Amino acid sequence: MAELSVGKEVLSQCNKCKLILAHIIVTMKDAKTADKVQCKTCKATHTFKDPSAKKAKTSVDKVIKTAKARSGKTTETISELWNKAVNKSTSSAKDYSIKGSFITGDLIDHPTFGQGVVEKLIDSNKIEVIFQDDYRTLMHKK
Ligand SMILES: [Zn+2]
Repeated sequence: MAELSVGKEVLSQCNKCKLILAHIIVTMKDAKTADKVQCKTCKATHTFKDPSAKKAKTSVDKVIKTAKARSGKTTETISELWNKAVNKSTSSAKDYSIKGSFITGDLIDHPTFGQGVVEKLIDSNKIEVIFQDDYRTLMHKK
């Protein structure tokens, strides 16, 4: 870490600008820590805020908040929809086979994709099934 002393420039979070900006050290807390700093942009003097610690925390918080806001507003994830579909299905799981016959709401056990629920019948030989990771079109009644 570079030597710090009064009159030197240091990067600090600025309270007013809400940005990490160059600040001039006004006073030092100890040999390695700035105490009061003056923002070169808005000229405000405030306590030094370590931008590396601050930045890492806010960006993580932001990501979490954004993700929460997003899941609240838009549609649910495939995994959530799948969970609901499985819980809603009243049928006991049937082993999936291309020769089998399935109807909407059927719970199926697929050897590769795991448990799924028939969402709709696409045509006489095709069904759309929701699995935990994605929707898949499967054949049946073959
Ligand atoms: Zn400022």
